[in-house]
Amino acid sequence: MSLHQLIYYSRNTAAGDDREMLRQLRDIVAVSQANNSRDGITGALIFDKQWFVQILEGEMERIEATYNRIARDPRHGTITLVETRGIPHRQFAEWAMGGTMRTPEVQEIFLRHGIGGTLDPARLKGGAILALALDLKAYEMEKKAAIARPA
Ligand code: FAD
Repeated sequence: MSLHQLIYYSRNTAAGDDREMLRQLRDIVAVSQANNSRDGITGALIFDKQWFVQILEGEMERIEATYNRIARDPRHGTITLVETRGIPHRQFAEWAMGGTMRTPEVQEIFLRHGIGGTLDPARLKGGAILALALDLKAYEMEKKAAIARPA
């Protein structure tokens, strides 16, 4: 099986207050995890109030079908493909789709990647998006492990 990774970004068009936006994002992540588990897709979704940045990995045919479905979704717009490349192994194998919202809690990680102000994915190359997503994954996984550890 030949593995590929696709990276894109898009404008978040979710309407409503913070609470409503978070609800919509939770819906997106839940549906993504269910569909991606079925389709053998793994990856990460980083978002703030303005942008989505997503990494999808798996078989090319499945990634393309998923990306085409995502591209038709009215909850975002200006979808811009950053990169598609072959990969030797998955980098988000633990996540059918891990969602990380940009909050003050993870601001330190964004700063480490030189992102202090508003996220502007148009200025980020695929490698930089990937490095950020991997650090966010490490953070989220450590957080989950800490919760699971007995006190
Ligand atoms: P249906 O649920 O029948 O959707 C029919 C149509 O309505 C589609 O165009 C769908 O996009 C749209 N839609 C569904 N729910 C809503 C809603 N609450 N509000 C407005 N429109 C809606 N799906 C994945 O499978 N994997 C992913 O990794 C993934 N990532 C996503 C990332 C982002 C940023 C966004 C916005 C969506 C993502 N989705 C993902 C969801 C995807 O766009 C589809 O909604 C989903 O795959 C189901 O599509 P469907 O046509 O089979 O189903």
